[in-house]
Amino acid sequence: MQSIPASETIALSVVIPIYNEEQIIDELYQRLAKSVSEVTSSFELIFVNDGSSDNSLLELIRLSEQHKQVYYINFSRNFGHQIAVTAGLDACRGEAVVIIDGDLQDPPELIPTLYKKHKEGFEVVYAKRNKRQGETFFKKTTAKLFYRLLKRMTSTEIPVDTGDFRLIDQKVVRYLRKMPEQNKFLRGQIAWLGFKQTHVLYDRDSRKAGETGYTFSKMFQFAMDGITGFSDKPLAFVSRIGFFISFISFLIILYAVYAHFVMDETITGWTSLIVSIMFIGGIQLISVGVIGEYISRINKNVRDRPLYIVAETNIKNPEDADGS
Ligand code: UDP
Ligand code: MG
Repeated sequence: MQSIPASETIALSVVIPIYNEEQIIDELYQRLAKSVSEVTSSFELIFVNDGSSDNSLLELIRLSEQHKQVYYINFSRNFGHQIAVTAGLDACRGEAVVIIDGDLQDPPELIPTLYKKHKEGFEVVYAKRNKRQGETFFKKTTAKLFYRLLKRMTSTEIPVDTGDFRLIDQKVVRYLRKMPEQNKFLRGQIAWLGFKQTHVLYDRDSRKAGETGYTFSKMFQFAMDGITGFSDKPLAFVSRIGFFISFISFLIILYAVYAHFVMDETITGWTSLIVSIMFIGGIQLISVGVIGEYISRINKNVRDRPLYIVAETNIKNPEDADGS
């Protein structure tokens, strides 16, 4: 166990979420250490092991025993990528903080460029993907569509085609710690906070080894978190559909009454009945579902549980390093 005293500030922290990355941790460390040393010797690398089922934790402990600037936080189970990053942010002390994926899709060699922009006075320097290599067509198109949809739904300027790979100032981190929502969408929260922001372009590599920890259902959840956290438009939209359909139904009722009493013919038909019932039923279920998405998030926040549970860490004040 080694640690820099908590009062001591350092120049740069790097936060790296780790989920089943045992094969790359060594290379990851080498490349990070090399790249970060180019800008400062006063740095810390905080690895957050998000309930990996492989030997990632052992690798991290080994690294932390060999290098005094390596810290690890081990979660009691898998809490998800955004929460893992949050835990790292809660524990970091750097004047500047870099968030980077642990699968080497975000090149550590970009850190000096991000850092230079920070020195120029930007509080948020995000890395914008120029090209994405080795990702499926499905992932690229859904991501692209999602970012554009989100942009239309929210008044917060969330930059398109960026992940969480970025450098943020400690000031921004301090405010993030005050945003305790359970369903994290960090890139949105950072955009919401404002400050002086800029970007640098980079080519996103393909994964070095292992496979994506983002299953389709995790991706879908994440997209819903982004939308519900930053827009009320879906609610407005379903209520507008409600008004629209009520209006149409009113016209149909008028017509039916008119046809019955004036034209003396009664509209019959099982087909029209069943079609309209199914249609209304579908719209109602969708609307209830949309409302449900918001309510389940309210529910999660009201329960007020800690965001994550730390099973072990080599950071001095582990009580600082939990989500409560
Ligand atoms: N990750 C995590 N918890 C998870 C899933 C992923 O901490 O439940 C980490 C993972 O180790 C990687 C980063 O988050 O460092 C990005 O995940 P991944 O590469 O699987 O996502 P993708 O790049 O495919 O979107
Ligand atoms: Mg990845």
